[in-house]
Amino acid sequence: MAIMPNTKMRAVQVAAPKGPFQLVEREIPEPEAGSVRIKVQACGVCHSDSFTKEGTWPGLQYPRVPGHEVAGVIDAIGERVAGWKVGQRVGVGWYGGHCGYCDRCRQGDFLTCRNERRVTGITYDGGYADYMIARADALALIPDTVSAEDAGPLLCAGVTTFNSLRHSTAGPGDLVAVLGIGGLGHLGVQYASRMGFRTAAIARGKDKERLARELGAVEYIDSESQNPAEELTRLGGAKVILSTVTSGKAVNAVLGGLGIDGTLLVVGAADQPLNIPAVLLIGGRKSVTGWPSGTAADSEDTLRFSAFTGVRSRNEVFPIERAAEAYERMMSGKARFRVVLTTGQNPRA
Ligand SMILES: [Zn+2]
Ligand SMILES: [Zn+2]
Repeated sequence: MAIMPNTKMRAVQVAAPKGPFQLVEREIPEPEAGSVRIKVQACGVCHSDSFTKEGTWPGLQYPRVPGHEVAGVIDAIGERVAGWKVGQRVGVGWYGGHCGYCDRCRQGDFLTCRNERRVTGITYDGGYADYMIARADALALIPDTVSAEDAGPLLCAGVTTFNSLRHSTAGPGDLVAVLGIGGLGHLGVQYASRMGFRTAAIARGKDKERLARELGAVEYIDSESQNPAEELTRLGGAKVILSTVTSGKAVNAVLGGLGIDGTLLVVGAADQPLNIPAVLLIGGRKSVTGWPSGTAADSEDTLRFSAFTGVRSRNEVFPIERAAEAYERMMSGKARFRVVLTTGQNPRA
């Protein structure tokens, strides 16, 4: 009897809003024109996966496989794909491709493309699976020295903090504060210090100081026993405060620490409106801005920078079969610091 090639794969899907994660067997998909198939090795579990799990993304179609911190190897290539080959190690993040003809794309700003908005794991199936299909323009090369497990979180949490900081107004030696040392913040502190900023970490409790300094912070502000705005002012005022927390109250408490021309750079979605007095903005020309991750090229820059400066995400790793448990762990806020799923397909290759 001839041995048939295995055409099935494991995938973890959500079948309905707020429905459970289901480990299912699916046909291994074939890449259409312009796309490649990725043999997934690792996929980070991100707070934004809750859009898929909880059904809070408008128009999301079910069933859907979540996961937008995908690392693996190109396994097959569709028609009309140039510049990529089978066997290359690649990652895919939140950005899943762009149209190339809208006004935003014609400005070269692919991340704000107005058409066929492709978001990995949300508008098409993501990386909680043995294989996934990705558009070629969504691929980022993974450096040899970065493992799949390490690459995963850098493709969302990493690119978001790296890209927002590198496009900020802070220069070498400027005081940059990172609010929160969680999944985003522990990477933000590392990037800020490697970029040459005078990096201050702000977190609750004295016990996080050691970790903050290990990650590269030269100043630590305990927001429980100290007033973070006063402390930042005492240090000269922050050029940038990178806000990674979900507590609107915590953000409001640091605003007064912005220096002249200082910017509050928001990358974490706060649970309540920010309370920003107009006079605070006017006198010192201060501003508030947000930043949304990056394109595949930005992800590739993030991975390369992380490789040669030694920035690494601290991860808790779960096999893909335990996706539900991994998701609960991430949502609990107790994970140290990112949660990553592995498929067992040569994760260290
Ligand atoms: Zn994410
Ligand atoms: Zn476009």
